[in-house]
Amino acid sequence: MFGFKKWRRKRQMQQDLPEEWAVILQKSVPYFRNLPSELQTKLQGLTKIFLHEKRFEGCAGLELNDEIRVSIAAQACILLLGIDDLSSFYEGLRSVLVYPESYVAKVKNHRNGYFVEEGFQQRHGEAWSRGHVVLAWDEVKKDGANMHDGRNLVFHEFAHLIDYDYGATAEVESRENTGFWSWSSWGSIINQEYNKLLDAIRRNQHTLIDEYGATNLAEFFAVVTENFFERPRALRRKHPELYKQLKQFYQQDPAAYIKS
Ligand SMILES: [Zn+2]
Repeated sequence: MFGFKKWRRKRQMQQDLPEEWAVILQKSVPYFRNLPSELQTKLQGLTKIFLHEKRFEGCAGLELNDEIRVSIAAQACILLLGIDDLSSFYEGLRSVLVYPESYVAKVKNHRNGYFVEEGFQQRHGEAWSRGHVVLAWDEVKKDGANMHDGRNLVFHEFAHLIDYDYGATAEVESRENTGFWSWSSWGSIINQEYNKLLDAIRRNQHTLIDEYGATNLAEFFAVVTENFFERPRALRRKHPELYKQLKQFYQQDPAAYIKS
């Protein structure tokens, strides 16, 4: 990391967000309105850095506009509100690809390490470790408008990016395979909570955490991130240990100001 990049980011944090972007932020990102004022200011700065550094591409005929860019950038930056060191800022991300609506993707699934299953799947979004995030704009809009249902596509996909960058779940997984999963409170709690979810689903019990989180640890992390930011009080009530770990990880306490 060159000092210059960090210096430039610091300067951008100090300058005001252009008026037309501030209006979009107010209107299109209800989450912004629920933040305490110091975090609102910080989010404006982070959004500015994101828009300055990251590339957006409209796909399948989608014409990009400021509403699309600002809504996505701001929601992605909510995950970063706890950081103070600006040297790390979705460093691996090269571009955000935006489709007008859910798109069909060709998929390959490895099952049991033996065979590969290929097919087509309706997708709302995905994060690739190679540096791209793919999002469907209609979903982004819908999820952004409802900030209390524990579903947010942007939070979900950018949680995957953070997970890739920091190996948040990769290590838990590899430790589990060697039987030393209790190597840290992070690893043991993520594992315990993941297994609790699998258990509850097997017993047909209702869970706060969406069943999709049972797919694997990486999806679990992305799904609990959505809950951590959108339904923090419910998550803290039902999964206090998990909430504590995420609070430490993201360096944020959304239950203090998001009332669901
Ligand atoms: Zn996912």
